[in-house]
Amino acid sequence: MTCYVEVRCPSCDSLEVNKAGFNHHRVRRYRCVNDGCIANYFMLKYRYKAYQPGVKQQVVEMAINGSGIRDTSRVLKISKTTVLSTIKSKGSMLIQVNPNIKTLELTCDAVELDEQWSFVGNKSNQRWIWYAVDHATNTILAYVFGRRKDIIFKQLKALLEPFGIKRFYTDGWGAYERNIEKEKHEVGKRNTQKIERKNLNLRTWIKRLTRKTICFSKLEKMHDIVIGLLINKVEFGVDIHAKLQI
Ligand SMILES: [Zn+2]
Repeated sequence: MTCYVEVRCPSCDSLEVNKAGFNHHRVRRYRCVNDGCIANYFMLKYRYKAYQPGVKQQVVEMAINGSGIRDTSRVLKISKTTVLSTIKSKGSMLIQVNPNIKTLELTCDAVELDEQWSFVGNKSNQRWIWYAVDHATNTILAYVFGRRKDIIFKQLKALLEPFGIKRFYTDGWGAYERNIEKEKHEVGKRNTQKIERKNLNLRTWIKRLTRKTICFSKLEKMHDIVIGLLINKVEFGVDIHAKLQI
């Protein structure tokens, strides 16, 4: 009796697949001949799980959902080094300013500024995410990472410059007092309450993540990339799994 196994391309699900020899472990390789498919060569069985289609996407999804390196490594059966390098490789694609301002037709007249604390490795190594939210829609406009210092806030302010913002609502932290023109600056809870009730999803998520990342990694870079990926995906609508165009 002969058995036939249907072979589909893992990327485009096409049946237009040819045999393409064997790899050096004598495992059958296939080639997708569907026009426009990015997969080309693939195998049905992978000795090393990390090469399996979709595994790297899962690494990234698990990270932005708060899984630590060790958890991800265990669940996906890949090495911790691979988890780390997969996340690190995403760092260069991140953007810090929302690319959809024009499409969303936001006026950006007024913004709320907020900063969230976390630390990397030990408590003396403080890490802050500073970000600006459009007051009317609660859309994140831009973010930066760093210490809770004026110089970091100035970076955020520089990113906001093109928007021509007329009003800044803040909690009154010194860096804001020192770096925002008085007539444009308003301190207090009054103007942030409404928005905090309306849509807390992302802020809550960031908070949870910054808390969780306490044991996630000792590397500042990893910490920043994971939160950056979250904002890029959820808030900016960026396809964080897209292959980098070099
Ligand atoms: Zn294909």
